[in-house]
Amino acid sequence: MQLFHHYATELSAISSHVKPFPVTRARVAVRNESLAAELGIDLKELETDALLSALFSENGELQANSVAQKYGGHQFGQWNPNLGDGRGLLLGEIKAPNGAFWDLHLKGAGQTPYSRHADGRAVLRSTIREYLAGEALHVLGIPSSRSLCLLTSHEPVHREQRERGAMMIRTCQSHIRFGHFEYFHHSNQPQQLEALFNYSFKHHFPSCLNSPTPHRDMFQSIVTKTALMIAKWQAYGFNHGVMNTDNMSIHGITFDYGPYAFLDDFIPEYVCNSSDHTGRYAFDQQPSIGLWNLNALAHAFTPFLEIDEIKAVLTTYETTLVNEYQILMKRRLGLYEHTINDAQLVSEIDVLIAEWMTILEDEKADFHQSFRLVSEQLLSLESLDLSSISDNFVQADRVRQWCVNYHEIQQNLISLSDSSWAQIQQKMLAVNPKFVLRNHLVQEAIEAAEDDDFSIFEVLVKVLTSPFEDHPEFAHFSEPPANPQKGISLSCSS
Ligand code: AMP
Ligand code: MG
Ligand code: MG
Repeated sequence: MQLFHHYATELSAISSHVKPFPVTRARVAVRNESLAAELGIDLKELETDALLSALFSENGELQANSVAQKYGGHQFGQWNPNLGDGRGLLLGEIKAPNGAFWDLHLKGAGQTPYSRHADGRAVLRSTIREYLAGEALHVLGIPSSRSLCLLTSHEPVHREQRERGAMMIRTCQSHIRFGHFEYFHHSNQPQQLEALFNYSFKHHFPSCLNSPTPHRDMFQSIVTKTALMIAKWQAYGFNHGVMNTDNMSIHGITFDYGPYAFLDDFIPEYVCNSSDHTGRYAFDQQPSIGLWNLNALAHAFTPFLEIDEIKAVLTTYETTLVNEYQILMKRRLGLYEHTINDAQLVSEIDVLIAEWMTILEDEKADFHQSFRLVSEQLLSLESLDLSSISDNFVQADRVRQWCVNYHEIQQNLISLSDSSWAQIQQKMLAVNPKFVLRNHLVQEAIEAAEDDDFSIFEVLVKVLTSPFEDHPEFAHFSEPPANPQKGISLSCSS
């Protein structure tokens, strides 16, 4: 594997050279074959002996120039300058066959100058959760970091209890966080801040270099990408759980997974993070927290932009997010997505979507199954045989009325768009997953993996990477949890 070291060499002043520290009896338990293919990595390089030697031997190619990055972050609203890669190392960048560079980052690599007395390790449980989340979001079109491989070990790691340690190699465009920029701004290091900007323009926002307003353009790009990402979280029922600014990527990708959850029942104010006592990062707070975080990032742009310029860019956030959310909701409900010139029809569509979400909320209906149900039963809805949908709800009459309204609007849209109910159903089935990464399933996979049994994990990867297919043999994995397991919340420990 040929690694480049752009970050380590060009930004050496703001990172620390640290070697990965091996764990006992490490073994590659999982390799992400499709990701390896995309990155042009030979699977042989991810076999245990080859990988351990590349990571830990004195002339191993993956440890030659590994660094821990310095950053800070607003954690639950409070500024914390004392953050950085405390247990992960940037190994370097790999050049994919399409010419794009991807970070390889080893999580659980041991202590660094930013570990703050913690052990520098990751537990198997959290690496499994992160691997599955990356795959599940990616296939739904939600930008995310992804894991290339998991290494299990017999190294004991102490959290609330003794657990098995593990390592993971993850990939994404870069690991530069909002907190990188915030740190060099708030610690009054203008030269380092400028170096970080110049590096980001060169490697990640090259079009800004030809612009008369590079900082403005870069900020606009981050605002837009963040808004689009959060719109997707909302449309697919994903709760990140720890939206601290050190966990926010400048590329608008989901990363640094902690106690995340996909919703079970639709409870908008659901909080997946059991340490989040005020509900700051509740599901329905994510759009406004995204803006709060962008405001925090904006301070680092103040040496280069006027306040009015910053405000003008931030103003675009809400419109971008809401537009994207509306498009996704229309897509999920099979409603025509393009501009319609009939104002009354437009407003009827908005009301239809809003009423659907209110029904799900009032009924505490399963978020994902409800969309899948409409997709699967669309042809019954076409013939106004509505019980196969309405029988699933307590307020059956209300749902029947919604279906009748849907039918009328859809007929209008079909004549406008020259489509058919059957074609619409095909499209809906391809955007409404039957299989969703639910925490009770992740839990099953983790418990087996703790005993070195990755069979449940493998099935989950299979159904989650093709979640729109039927997979009748794995029906169990498409079921929502029983009541006691619904909406589990998890602690930050990982
Ligand atoms: P997180 O909550 O995972 O986003 O991490 C917040 C900060 O704590 C980051 O600076 C991490 O690098 C650091 N950190 C988290 N867990 C550990 C650990 N086990 N050892 C060292 N640093 C850690
Ligand atoms: Mg983090
Ligand atoms: Mg983390």
